Amino acid sequence: MNNSWEKNVRTIEPYVPGEQPQDSNVIKLNTNENPYPPAKEVMESLNGIDGDMFRKYPDPLCSELTEALAEYHNLDKKNIFVGVGSDDVLGMSFLTFFNSDKPILFPDITYSFYPVWSDLFNVPFETKALDENFRIIPSDYYGENGGIVFPNPNAPTGIFMPKEEIIGILENNKDVVVIVDEAYIDFAPEGSSCIDLIDRYPNLLVTRTYSKSRTLAGMRIGYAVGSEKLISYLNDVKFSYNSYTLTVATIKMGAASVKSDDYFKKVIASIIETREYFSEEIKKLGFKVLPSSANFVFASHPDIKASYIYEEAKKRNIYVRYFNTPRIDNYLRITIGMKEDMDSLIEFLKELTSK
Ligand code: PMP
Repeated sequence: MNNSWEKNVRTIEPYVPGEQPQDSNVIKLNTNENPYPPAKEVMESLNGIDGDMFRKYPDPLCSELTEALAEYHNLDKKNIFVGVGSDDVLGMSFLTFFNSDKPILFPDITYSFYPVWSDLFNVPFETKALDENFRIIPSDYYGENGGIVFPNPNAPTGIFMPKEEIIGILENNKDVVVIVDEAYIDFAPEGSSCIDLIDRYPNLLVTRTYSKSRTLAGMRIGYAVGSEKLISYLNDVKFSYNSYTLTVATIKMGAASVKSDDYFKKVIASIIETREYFSEEIKKLGFKVLPSSANFVFASHPDIKASYIYEEAKKRNIYVRYFNTPRIDNYLRITIGMKEDMDSLIEFLKELTSK
């Protein structure tokens, strides 16, 4: 029974993150983490930290990190906003930019946190169906709306949207903020990021994460890139909520990461190579695999239910992600891990499909 005080409680159906089993024997391919360790420069950056630095609050502007990112992207630090993972940056962006009575728009199949933030911040939203090949239809986003958000590449499909199509959306949406969530862009073809469009479109916000390509999901670092004006609005909201978001250690590690470009590129190239290998191998087993530009693939088998594969794989200590939602309830999202992990999964799938 509800207590009388509960009538004043904000109730909400929360986002459900992927399982984080604490057993180290698990082959964990369910939350799009990177299987490679962080760059050695990232670990070395902690050597310069002493207890006195932890005694004090961190720099609320996280300048060491915003400066490193500005240099990396050839921008000014006024174009960069950092947060506790891109979830924090995206949540803060919903709060800051989506304040219209008109609905914001995002795809029907996309990052399942978008409807949760919309509910949390009372933002009306409307979803636009992907086409039969799971592609975003750009013209669906040309009508009146209160703002737009979509990932590129999209999640959980892994499908990439060419820049010309994003420009089409931007050209038709100069009166609202358009957020392009580039969580997986480093695994897409080079030159596909929208960051170079921020001068042309002062209403474009691009979000990025350290959790995937930079192998630092545990440190929680994300950032947004946009016009000076957009970033200053974001900072006003952040400083009205929590001044000290990133820790002393996180700021240092984040800044060091962008200085180890060779390692970064090597890790990405390995994951892309494994992704292509794995996709081809499971296609041979009859799987349909959507063309992925991310560090995961989205796959379905015509004869074996995805929910069954998910459960059976789990019994073997192989974790993949299953979404019991319309249109995609016969698909599995499989993170690309080390080649030997993918080989273990291929072996298991071979057994399952030959039964
Ligand atoms: N955007 C998309 C599309 C994602 O899949 C994720 C990962 N769950 C995020 C943003 C958030 O990542 P993080 O908070 O780890 O930066």
